Amino acid sequence: MFARRIAFILLALVAAAPAAAQDKLRTIASFSILGDLVENVGGDRVEVATLIGPDGNAHVYEPTPADSRRVADAKVVFVNGLGFEGWLGRLVKASGTKAAIVVASTGISPRSSASETRLGADTTDPHAWQSVANAKRYVANIRDALIKADPAGAGAYKANAMAYLASLDALDQEVRDVVAGIAPDRRRVITSHNAFGYFQDAYGVAFSAPQGVSSEAEASAKDVARIIAQIRNERISAVFLENVTDARLMQLIARETGARIGGTLYSDALTDANGPAPSYIDLIRHNVRELAAALGR
Ligand code: ZN
Repeated sequence: MFARRIAFILLALVAAAPAAAQDKLRTIASFSILGDLVENVGGDRVEVATLIGPDGNAHVYEPTPADSRRVADAKVVFVNGLGFEGWLGRLVKASGTKAAIVVASTGISPRSSASETRLGADTTDPHAWQSVANAKRYVANIRDALIKADPAGAGAYKANAMAYLASLDALDQEVRDVVAGIAPDRRRVITSHNAFGYFQDAYGVAFSAPQGVSSEAEASAKDVARIIAQIRNERISAVFLENVTDARLMQLIARETGARIGGTLYSDALTDANGPAPSYIDLIRHNVRELAAALGR
């Protein structure tokens, strides 16, 4: 009788304890930027594993057997969509997962790359997160998906999302203020792959790149010649490196044209905790400050 009572008390204590790791909602985010958005909305109730970590390149990613096991165990898998994760279908199938697959970019207006349309390539630009307004749409989609998967957490997810959306509004205004400080005729930039089209449309800085919207295909000699001519014709003063692509091509273009290397922009991945872009907000803030520093007179 006494032993039974002890067991009952122990059971009651376990039930009242805060959610342990194994009780958290297990989610996967395909890449680091999306993982940060899910963490901000999910807070304590959610465990987020990221398939492509800091400085990783989703365009050329090869899923591992360990990824397949993690996807199999997850309740929700968040992906960008817009053709960013070309390997996802195979991974989901191989894992046999029952997880909900949530496309975080649902509802944004996709952009296509005009120069690639001419070449007849797959032209959807997947880098929608480079506009803060689009990131807000991602956050709303993440919130709704978490509520569906874990209705008991609805209050927490709504409160987390509301606070984070307010931070994103402030970030959007900050980007506009910094860009306003750059002379309009200086708002022209070269990067290695075409990852900043949504930033261009939202904030009025023009980006060109020798590589297309996927960094998978290498730039051709013709693409490089086109960019070199453009830098000379438009008197573009700075070219930028990216954390997910090879620096050598941009170094060659800089040598060839006399344009300065303006610094590194973070396009498709966060940095680790020691780098300048360990979160989405840090990434956008770093990029716009780097642009202002290189393009200001
Ligand atoms: Zn990219």
